[in-house]
Amino acid sequence: MAAGKLLMVGAGLSGAVIGRHLAEAGYDITVVDARDHIGGNCHTERDADTGVMVHIYGPHIFHTDDAEVWDYVNTYETFLPYKNRVKTTSVDPKGQRGVFSLPVNLHTINQFFGKTLRPEEAHAFITEEQADTSITDPQTFEEQAMRFVGKDLYEAFFKGYTIKQWGVQPSELPASILKRLPLRFNYDDNYFFHKFQGMPENGYTAMIEKILDHPGITVKLATTFDREMAEGYDHVFYSGPLDGYFDYELGRLGYRTLDFERFTHAGDYQGCAVMNYGEEAVPYTRITEHKHFSPWEEHAGSVLYREYSRSAEPGDIPYYPIRQVKEKALLADYVKLAEQTEGVTFVGRLGTYRYLDMDVTIREALDTARGFLEAVEAGNAAPAFAVAPL
Ligand code: FAD
Ligand code: UDP
Repeated sequence: MAAGKLLMVGAGLSGAVIGRHLAEAGYDITVVDARDHIGGNCHTERDADTGVMVHIYGPHIFHTDDAEVWDYVNTYETFLPYKNRVKTTSVDPKGQRGVFSLPVNLHTINQFFGKTLRPEEAHAFITEEQADTSITDPQTFEEQAMRFVGKDLYEAFFKGYTIKQWGVQPSELPASILKRLPLRFNYDDNYFFHKFQGMPENGYTAMIEKILDHPGITVKLATTFDREMAEGYDHVFYSGPLDGYFDYELGRLGYRTLDFERFTHAGDYQGCAVMNYGEEAVPYTRITEHKHFSPWEEHAGSVLYREYSRSAEPGDIPYYPIRQVKEKALLADYVKLAEQTEGVTFVGRLGTYRYLDMDVTIREALDTARGFLEAVEAGNAAPAFAVAPL
C-alpha cells in the first residue's frame, strides 16, 4: 500500500529528483509534462544525421561545489571531464576585431591591450589604471563592471552582450548578474570556479530517464497540467511557471526567451563549444557548436545554434526570469496567492521564478522532498515554497 499519491508537474530535474526521492519513500508518483519528452530545459538529443549530442534548449555544463549533488548525478550517469572554456569575438581598443579568452583573464588582458604583463603587473594595471575606484559599493551591472574591469573591457565584452541578452541597459540590471563571472590575473580560462565540473556521457536526458526509472513512478508526456488534475492526489509539486498556475490572473511575470537558429557545417565550424559575440551590432549573443560538448566523441559533421534573446511573449518558452523592480512587485503578489493555496509546493526555476543552475535545482529538490517527509511525519502541511522566491 503506497504512502500516498503525489503529482509532479514537470519532468525536468525538479520533478524527477523530488519524484524519485518520494517514490523511494513509498509514494505513488505521477509525473506529467506538457512536452513530448522528459528532461525539461536540460533535454539532450542525438542528431540523426551527424550523431552529435545536441543540447536542445541551449548549452548546459554541469558544475558544482556541492559534493552530495555531485555524487547524486554520478549515481545515475557517468560524468566525463569537461572544462567550459568560452571565447568571445569583439573589438580591441585599436579597433581591431579579434577572438579573446573568457572569463577575463591574463590572456584576455594582454591580448586586448597589446601587453605582456605578469600577474601582479596586470592586477596593478587593472585596479589602478582601468577600474573606476570612485565606485565603492557597486549596485548595478554597469557599476560592477566599471569598478572591477574598467570602461575598455566593459564596453568590449560586457556592455553589448548584456544589452542583447537582457534587452535593457546594464545600468538597470543588478550587480549580481556580473558577479557570476570570475576575473583572473593568471592564464586559467576555466569559465567556472567550482570544484566539480563535467558532462554526462550520454546526455542529460539519459540521466533524468534513469532518475525517473522506478516502479513507483509513472510518466505522462504531452500532458498539460490544469488545476482539476490535482484531484485524487495528496499533494502537487509544481515546477511550471508560478503565474501560469494561476492562469496569469494578476498579469505576467517577465521573462527573456531565446530563439535558436540551427545550422549545420561539414567539419569544425568554430573550434570551440561556445563563442560569444560582444558587439551590439552582431544580433546574436553566441554560437554553440554542440559536438565540442562531447570531446570524447568524434563526428565529421557539426550542429550549431545561433542564439538570439528577446522578451518572452505568451506562448514563448520562458527562459530567464527578469526580476527587476516591476517583476518583483508582481512576484510578491503571486507569492501571497501561492501561500493561500493548499496542497501545492512550487519548485524549480519557473515555480520560484529564480535563475537556478542545475546543481542548485537538484540541491533544492532533495531538500524539498526531505522537508515534505518531515512535514508529513510531524503532521504538518507542506509549505507553498520550500525556498522563498523573494
Ligand atoms: P525545467 O527544466 O524548466 O522543467 C520544467 C518542466 O515543466 C518543463 O519540461 C515544462 O515543459 C514543464 N511544464 C511547465 N508547465 C507545465 C504545465 N502546466 N503542465 C505540464 N508540464 C509543464 N544550468 C547549469 O547548471 N549549467 C548550465 O550551463 C546551464 N545553462 C543553461 C542555459 C540556458 C539557455 C538555460 C535556459 C538554462 C541553463 N541552466 C544551466 C539551468 C537549467 O536549465 C535549470 O537549472 C534546470 O532546467 C531547472 O530544472 P527545472 O526542472 O526546475 O525546470
Ligand atoms: N556576460 C557578458 N558577456 C559575456 C558573457 C556574459 O556581458 O561574454 C554577462 C551577461 O549579462 C550574462 C552575465 O554576464 O547574463 C552572466 O554570464 P553567464 O555566462 O553566467 O550567463 P548565462 O549563463 O546567464 O547565459
